[in-house]
Amino acid sequence: MIVAANFKMHKTRKETIEYLKELENVEFTRVKVAVFPPFSALVENDLIGAQNAYPAQNGAYTGEIGLEQLNEFNIKRVLLGHSERRHILNESQEFIAKKFDFYKKEGFEIFYCVGEPLEVRKQGIKAVMEYIKSQFEGIDLEYEKLIIAYEPVWAIGTGVSATTEEIKETHEEIRKLTSAPILYGGSVKLNNISEILDIPNVDGVLVGSASLDVNTFKEMINKAK
Ligand code: 13P
Repeated sequence: MIVAANFKMHKTRKETIEYLKELENVEFTRVKVAVFPPFSALVENDLIGAQNAYPAQNGAYTGEIGLEQLNEFNIKRVLLGHSERRHILNESQEFIAKKFDFYKKEGFEIFYCVGEPLEVRKQGIKAVMEYIKSQFEGIDLEYEKLIIAYEPVWAIGTGVSATTEEIKETHEEIRKLTSAPILYGGSVKLNNISEILDIPNVDGVLVGSASLDVNTFKEMINKAK
């Protein structure tokens, strides 16, 4: 099981360091944990990954960070294709695939996010899978360090998680395309995590708001054991 925390644009560097300290005495033998803080809070720690990165070593890309900056902290894990980057920052599939290719060549572990908007979900699983397949364009689904996160857009930050049936059918369909672990994300909380982790083809969770409180996140890790 994989339990990952996406802080999004929350927490300072000091808060992140305190958070990681709290996780130090957690037993990780049967669960893999990852923490994605904002760029300003990147630190050298095995749990840490970057929420995004530009596909270059360095260069004239104002406002971005690249491989050189991640190397400074020995970071070997990156989150790509998050719905907020696709929809709020208007990242295209082509650009995301470029990032994937670049960080794959660098041997990074890649948490790759996909997920449909509500109007697509309303059309049923066939439409959902067509949409998700378009988000797999240019992505090597056989990359051995790939971890997929299925995060329906309408379930992110809304408090409304997808139903067990919706998660089950979608993960089952994604499983036909890849042997990579498949995480679910979207309003995962302490009170629904166990039920979600019990669903076939769910290999873990990517947690946003509920991960911000370290004690809650620790309890979530315990439930995944
Ligand atoms: P929430 O858990 O806040 O819904 O966010 C999910 C998410 O986007 C994780 O990447």
